[in-house]
Amino acid sequence: MVNANLNDLWRGVLGEIEIQISRPNFLTWLKSSRLINKKESEGTVIVGLPNNFAKEWVKNRYHKLILGSLRNMDSSIKVVEYIVERQPQPDLIKTKKGDQPETFAEIEKQKPLIELKIDSETNLNPRYTLKSFIVGSSNELAYAAVTAVIKDVGKKYNPLFIYGGVGLGKTHLLQATGNEIKSVYKNQIKVLYVSSEKFLNDMLWGIRNNKMDDIKKRYRNTDVLIIDDIQFIGGKERTEEEFFHTFNVLYENNKQIIMSSDRAPAAIPIIEERLRSRFEGGMIADISYPDYETRLAILRTKAQENRWQIEDKALELIANKVKKNIRELEGVLNKVVFYQDIKKDKINAQKLEEIVNEVVRVNTKNISANDVIKTVGEFFEISPADMMAKCKKKEVVEPRQITMYLLREMLNSSYPSIGEKLGKRDHTTVIHACTKISREINQNSVLNQKIILIKEMINKSA
Ligand code: ADP
Ligand code: MG
Repeated sequence: MVNANLNDLWRGVLGEIEIQISRPNFLTWLKSSRLINKKESEGTVIVGLPNNFAKEWVKNRYHKLILGSLRNMDSSIKVVEYIVERQPQPDLIKTKKGDQPETFAEIEKQKPLIELKIDSETNLNPRYTLKSFIVGSSNELAYAAVTAVIKDVGKKYNPLFIYGGVGLGKTHLLQATGNEIKSVYKNQIKVLYVSSEKFLNDMLWGIRNNKMDDIKKRYRNTDVLIIDDIQFIGGKERTEEEFFHTFNVLYENNKQIIMSSDRAPAAIPIIEERLRSRFEGGMIADISYPDYETRLAILRTKAQENRWQIEDKALELIANKVKKNIRELEGVLNKVVFYQDIKKDKINAQKLEEIVNEVVRVNTKNISANDVIKTVGEFFEISPADMMAKCKKKEVVEPRQITMYLLREMLNSSYPSIGEKLGKRDHTTVIHACTKISREINQNSVLNQKIILIKEMINKSA
């Protein structure tokens, strides 16, 4: 087949796909693709994509769509192969020289990101609101407590300590409380939200750079201090000490302190007794597993917010399946919507089962640190040796940081052990990487997609 015909064929395919997937997805993944070759005898066509990431993504997500659409145009086609082809392809897209994104970083720059702005003063993400927080029997005590705090900041329920398992809405509720206080009291009440990783990082930075006074000022000048996942602060002497002093200064001045943790204060083994009893002197509320009604309400709200067309029957199926983690509940919903979009068909029970297994498996399967390091390396085409080396090139630094983040998130490894595995790096470097990636995930949808894909690959490889 001559080139012109290949181009026509591919243009037809892209035209068909373009109307079936979202605009940003089309532009990001398929705009720079090209049909390179067709081996008539075998019925094989070869599709070129600009980098390994796009290749994996397209192969994993759009293969069926591509094959179906190719076969609509040319029924002799049986197999599609995907390869990385780095040159720009002037034939298909007429762009000025230099406009063609060649690396993922460039694609990222060019892509109009739907970013939610994190407030740099408070660190709050406006996506979390009380309005979007569904209240049920599992979280009504915690909800009532934050409502009381909002009415009477610093006076009632101080400190407020909220605890519960992963993905049950602690961060959402804490951030929403911060946002609500900000909107009710405007500039009269200063709010500061930090994860305990950010807190640790700030402290370490202050110590290293002799800027402890600045850091203390920032933390002690606030009217409401919200610290998420406080369980990570325990056991690190200097930072726990600093936290204790900050806590006392705020507390004695009637400033509001709100904390979350994955377990009750009594069950955090390493915090000092004096800190524990301070926590227990305030209000403690737990968040437990949501009941069926709450799960269904969350799914309905999310579908409505995004204007997704999905039958109530399907939402009921999902609510029945995913019980212990709202993040996973949302993950399954996302996948179901994605599947329906592509299939142009309603979800059935068997497919749903598959999707649930894919999403929920992430936390339960045995994955080793090597699986993570290897997969991230393959994904970015970086050798394990480069990953360990001292190299500070951008192409290596981001994958290395993502590896650290995934080791923390998926395997719950300690910071020092992650540092050890990645070329004997200091644990503060690891903390910095984890904080950075978890912050950017919320702001950068492409990074988020990359990480979802890498996780899927890790799960497949394990
Ligand atoms: P945690 O901090 O406890 O691990 P998150 O606050 O990050 O959990 O919640 C995980 C996801 O579930 C978030 O996307 C959050 O918006 C959503 N979520 C959790 N609880 C609720 C709720 N009650 N109503 C609506 N969405 C919720
Ligand atoms: Mg959280």
